[in-house]
Amino acid sequence: MSAIESMIIIGSGPAGHTAAVYAWRALIEPLMFEGFLAWGIAAGGQLTTTTDVENYPGFPEGIMGPDLMMKMRQQSLNSWARIETKTVERVDLSERPFKVRAAGESEPRLAKTLVLSTWAIAKRLGLPGEELYRQRGISACAVCDGALPMYRKQPLVVIGGGDSACEEANFLSKFGSKVTMLVRRDELRASKVMQQRVFDNPKIEILWSTQWKEVIGDDQWMTWIIVTNISSGVESTLEAAWLFYAIGHKPATAFLGGQVVLDESGYIMTHARVAQEHLDGSGVLWGEDLALHQWRHHFASQTSVDGVFAAWDVADKLYRQAITSAGTWCIAALEAEHFLQEAK
Ligand code: FAD
Ligand code: NDP
Repeated sequence: MSAIESMIIIGSGPAGHTAAVYAWRALIEPLMFEGFLAWGIAAGGQLTTTTDVENYPGFPEGIMGPDLMMKMRQQSLNSWARIETKTVERVDLSERPFKVRAAGESEPRLAKTLVLSTWAIAKRLGLPGEELYRQRGISACAVCDGALPMYRKQPLVVIGGGDSACEEANFLSKFGSKVTMLVRRDELRASKVMQQRVFDNPKIEILWSTQWKEVIGDDQWMTWIIVTNISSGVESTLEAAWLFYAIGHKPATAFLGGQVVLDESGYIMTHARVAQEHLDGSGVLWGEDLALHQWRHHFASQTSVDGVFAAWDVADKLYRQAITSAGTWCIAALEAEHFLQEAK
């Protein structure tokens, strides 16, 4: 039987590394499972899939996403964190200490507190033809795949209208002959500065109010996308050597096996969210009595299981920024430490 850890951190994005640094401030030596290509994302999380990060304080010239995550990882190591490059497959939260089973291990690890910082999995559309042409014309990561020789001087397509889609379109415009963005509404969701970069880029065209129907090809590579204009209903065929999905992510919470309460989209419900939803009248999830009970509870980042903590991004879809993730995980780690004190 393994030793009982004070804290196991699952996930290695800005959230997990912030928790590790704050655990050290409380003289806790956390064990972190950083994931081994968990859900297809490299250890370090989503920022390893992007280029410039311009909105993380302390880097006036901006910093490349993978470099920022390497620095965070090093800071965790300097803060006594033990990091294992393994993906957690299952947890047992029925009693304390909690049991955490990583891929390839037969014995569970034991922990007094768990911090769940595992957001997220790239969404796909499931278009007809998608299975056949995955990685043969279809990708969900422009930064990972975009510089490959097969993209050079080819027509490229990005689906989505958020910050990721704008960033990917700009990045891909350096390689492709042209980039077409397919946007289902008549406006972008992206921040204003990202929108402006797209509007100013002569190699990017936006097809507004456009829905996609099917991808087709020669059985080896995807070559065309069939799209429909939502307003007019007119169908057309678009030449595309590669299609990149940038339609957001969903939280990686399935491994919890339903042992903590999630919302309808799979985000973890914390006490803070229950209280907030109770206040704004939408708190139907746990019922009024339980919401009031949780409101009085003082650990904002605690989940429905005592001793299991979560915060943005895995627990809230509203802001989803590296800084909000890091900030709220500072709170979660401090609360986990208070919990350990009280549980003594
Ligand atoms: P993540 O960074 O997603 O990290 C989750 C981690 O958990 C990953 O390392 C994953 O491998 C691991 N994991 C998952 N499941 C398991 C498991 N079962 N076991 C072990 N490990 C597991 N935000 C900004 O502020 N500025 C930007 O410029 C910016 N650019 C972005 C560009 C792109 C393309 C994308 C997709 C997002 C961008 N964001 C940006 C948003 C930012 O990346 C997220 O807000 C932030 O990464 C969330 O941090 P997190 O730690 O909650 O999750
Ligand atoms: P978002 O959820 O913000 O945007 C997803 C986009 O995909 C939206 O335009 C959405 O359309 C569209 N979409 C979603 N589902 C479908 C579907 N089924 N069919 C067609 N279109 C669909 O995700 P992002 O990955 O862009 O951003 C995630 C978070 O990361 C955000 O908080 C963002 O600010 C942050 N981020 C920050 C960056 C930066 O600061 N430089 C860079 C990249 C990301 P609709 O708008 O109609 O819902």
